[in-house]
Amino acid sequence: MNGLIVSSLSKSFGAVRAVDNVSFSVDGGEFLALIGPNGAGKSTCFNLINGQLVPDAGSVRFGGRDIAGSPARKICRCGIARTFQIAATFASMTVAENVQMALIAHEREIYRLWRRANSFHRQHALELLRRVGMHEAADRPCRELAYGDVKRVELAIALAGEPRLLLMDEPTAGMAPRERRELIALVKALIVERGIAVLFTEHSMDVVFAFADRIIVMARGRLIADGDARTVRNDPRVQQVYFGTGRIAERSGSAA
Ligand code: ADP
Ligand code: MG
Repeated sequence: MNGLIVSSLSKSFGAVRAVDNVSFSVDGGEFLALIGPNGAGKSTCFNLINGQLVPDAGSVRFGGRDIAGSPARKICRCGIARTFQIAATFASMTVAENVQMALIAHEREIYRLWRRANSFHRQHALELLRRVGMHEAADRPCRELAYGDVKRVELAIALAGEPRLLLMDEPTAGMAPRERRELIALVKALIVERGIAVLFTEHSMDVVFAFADRIIVMARGRLIADGDARTVRNDPRVQQVYFGTGRIAERSGSAA
């Protein structure tokens, strides 16, 4: 099995059951959205998968191995990358240098070689930057970039590690609606062409319903729905969570 299988995952903080007996899977190449109101347990779930947190119970299987509780670095090496939550770019380095650094890290080359090595992987970095539409900015310092453009560079950095699964917790936070849609459309195109699986959270229901292959919904630590856009939108429990007993609007701006 190529994908990720999360089984009976649980994590409490004191009396708060942040993630409560959650099970789901992400298949290879799948674009899976995890949605739910603020405090539902989405970020905790991400952090249990990426090794930031150790689960109280349950397993996280990836590529046939149980990685639950493994150190983040080890999880990263087995092909799981996360984007956007950490400030991944170095402001003083150029756009291309940032991606080159990620390529070097991927090959486990050492940082002290960097001064002698600033032509390493330049062509490969430029190819990745072209794919995210940032090659023309290759020689500018990252600090000069607009926010949305930094996100594109971060995406190129994530791809440099050749992940099989990308975890994106609120990748479009702070972006305007049109930029959000463009970034998610770009991510979707890239993962389809590379066969990468993605688990992402996103507050814009528009974007989720337009691009996700499948949607899972959390509320108060529990998984309450799992299915395609139509199934989830029509699920009474999901409607209850989002809008009292109302329906999920076709074009609601924010789910939070
Ligand atoms: P979401 O990402 O869906 O908004 P979180 O996973 O961030 O939800 O939070 C789930 C619940 O766990 C919330 O009640 C939150 O206050 C609590 N929580 C999350 N992280 C911690 C922490 N490090 N310490 C204590 N409580 C936490
Ligand atoms: Mg969160």
